[in-house]
Amino acid sequence: MKFSSPSQVEALAQMKTHPYQATSFYLNTDKSQHPLKAINAAYKGLLNQARLELEGKELSREARKSLLDDLEKISQFCTNRLNAWKAPGLALFCCSARNIWQELELPHGPRNRLIQDFDFYTRPLSAILEKFKKLCAFLVNRREACWYEIHMAEVRLLDSLASEVPKKVKKGGFEGYESKRIERHIDALLMEHFKKAAQKTFDILKQNHFDWLLVGCDDQFYPQLEPLFHSYVKGKLKGRIKARPGTEASRVLEECLTLEEKLKREEEEALVKKFVAELERGGRAVSGLVDTLRKLNSFEVQHLIITHNFSKPGRVCPDCHGLFANEELCPACKVKTEAVADIVDEAIEVALNRNIPLTQVSSPTRLEHYGSIGAFLKYKPQK
Ligand SMILES: [Zn+2]
Repeated sequence: MKFSSPSQVEALAQMKTHPYQATSFYLNTDKSQHPLKAINAAYKGLLNQARLELEGKELSREARKSLLDDLEKISQFCTNRLNAWKAPGLALFCCSARNIWQELELPHGPRNRLIQDFDFYTRPLSAILEKFKKLCAFLVNRREACWYEIHMAEVRLLDSLASEVPKKVKKGGFEGYESKRIERHIDALLMEHFKKAAQKTFDILKQNHFDWLLVGCDDQFYPQLEPLFHSYVKGKLKGRIKARPGTEASRVLEECLTLEEKLKREEEEALVKKFVAELERGGRAVSGLVDTLRKLNSFEVQHLIITHNFSKPGRVCPDCHGLFANEELCPACKVKTEAVADIVDEAIEVALNRNIPLTQVSSPTRLEHYGSIGAFLKYKPQK
């Protein structure tokens, strides 16, 4: 099943597996970035580690059997299905004792992980929902208009409109006054068509809570169309596309996704630029793993910025859950810290739990020069 809506996250969150535990499995299956061999190695590594962790857990015989069965089913699924798997991400949720098994195709590669706990682990799904903008493509020519919704790499026709606007009369067919009169009449009909379309665009944007509007319209008409947009519509307008009414939906989707990628990239670059400027003037910003984790531990982070797929092993305090790059002893609790495979992942989880804005930027940007991680701070750091 394709992952496409918040209701799927809610349904999973509400599934109860008590007294058994649930298994949640996420795999980055983006073959444009990782060869199949690496994807296979990743899932096998996750399964091996989960089996090791299970050995150390105190569980009833039935509860342990259910979790082991989950791992076996995941292993079977990956062996049989990964070869032909097309989506860039895979999520599996299961609880063998409760007969629960759900597979989701994800539109974006998640971080690889396998979690066995009392609830299904859905945070990465919420993160994917947040990542994808909801776009409206409004395509218009002199007779037709149509509106598409583009979300989670899927396209859907929302509405369309057709008006009776005759073609322009050929020069020479009519003379003088009569010809001008007809031309004015056609112009008025055309204006009426654009007005209707602009109003409908407003209604559709309001009803569906779109993030961005993209418009496909010939240059000759655009100066007439744009002033008709309500200020709310103008606020959502992010760019122009080449698609027109009649363009195949798959082409509309492709063009919108390409533009979305470009616009997001520009947003990320602007954010990194602002971050670097703040750092260099010694303002409210911090960079590098050690310092960023320290500020996260002391609740000073306002906005966390990380290069996509940046990952480093680290340590976590079992008492205060402080995160560290390499402290053997927690400086606050004086307790021995525990090793974790990916401390960046832990930092992301903390940010999500505390509702700290988090931006993951695609490399290359100047952020890598500053340790691939940093944060805007609530206060200016003390020197
Ligand atoms: Zn501690």
